[in-house]
Amino acid sequence: MAYREPGAQAEKPNQLTRRVMVGSVPVGGGASVAVQSMLTADALDVGANVSQIEALAEAGCEIIRMAVPRRSCLDAFEEVCARSPLPVVADVHFDAQIAIEAARRGAAKLRINPGNIGGWDKADLVLDAAEAAGIPVRIGVNAGSLDESIARRDDLSLPQKLALSASEYVRHCEQRGFRDVVVSAKAHDVMTTVRTYRQLARDIPHVPLHIGVTEAGTRFQGIVKSASGLGILLEEGIGDTMRISLTDDPVNEVRACWTLLSALDMRRRGPEIISCPTCGRCQVDLIGLAERVEGHLRTVRHPVKVAVMGCVVNGPGEAKDADVGVACGKGSAVVFRNGEVVRKVPEDEVVGALIEEIEKL
Ligand code: SF4
Repeated sequence: MAYREPGAQAEKPNQLTRRVMVGSVPVGGGASVAVQSMLTADALDVGANVSQIEALAEAGCEIIRMAVPRRSCLDAFEEVCARSPLPVVADVHFDAQIAIEAARRGAAKLRINPGNIGGWDKADLVLDAAEAAGIPVRIGVNAGSLDESIARRDDLSLPQKLALSASEYVRHCEQRGFRDVVVSAKAHDVMTTVRTYRQLARDIPHVPLHIGVTEAGTRFQGIVKSASGLGILLEEGIGDTMRISLTDDPVNEVRACWTLLSALDMRRRGPEIISCPTCGRCQVDLIGLAERVEGHLRTVRHPVKVAVMGCVVNGPGEAKDADVGVACGKGSAVVFRNGEVVRKVPEDEVVGALIEEIEKL
């Protein structure tokens, strides 16, 4: 019998959730945490949305969400679905008829907030449409649209209110026989988000969770807030699909998701760069060099560790984990592969030499 740390869980929460399919992408039931993002192009501009999806797919996005704000956007949504290489989720607020139509026109999933879709009668019509189309529904709750009876309870914290609200929606769906449900309950505050998802994992352990810190901010703040909150949750095994929301190009959301999953040793895609912070020993523009290497490696998809070190004193030793790397000196650098120095190149040939060595792996 395999040794287990005292107190360690036999199975993580996200191995116990019910699996749903978003197009061909499995979510829940022990599937790899799926990476999502959301389109930012005009909802009527089919070409711009399809181009954005292609760039996101290239970066490793697996599920894409598109806002469908008006009924007049449904034709464009349908065409985007038809041309998209990724499953497209219709994000609908206020008008149940849009969600119903989106289900008929190619949506791989619907994302609704039952609190603003026009009451349970309307929400039920959306569930019926999803069932007829054979697609799941993500129920997204937030603090701004909690049911009044839950919002005014003094005995519950905000995370408990959000989790209770989501649990009641899930129970309603299941009582109707609709089980293809994913839940999200994001907050812009990191620890509120963490506590809410922990509560959800306890209250509705069978339901797959879409995790994220919402409105996390611009690139730097958003990545730090998201990585701290989602890092805690993922390490606890909470979360079946994720988005890192940034006020930025959505391609960076996808890159940030993969970097986080890789840092947590959960999934790997593409290179990991090990670069030193530089110090007084460094005699090259290491920041610029590391950025150029990173830019050239964007098209590499297989996991490879690449070291970019500022000096030969500590460089090779500090980067001995790397598959390939360089350690710079004055105007030149030694290139090493699997810990062995293989050649010496002038500074301006470093990037090319690294790419060549990666291709030999
Ligand atoms: S690798 Fe060299 S330059 Fe970079 S931090 Fe270490 S000692 Fe300094």
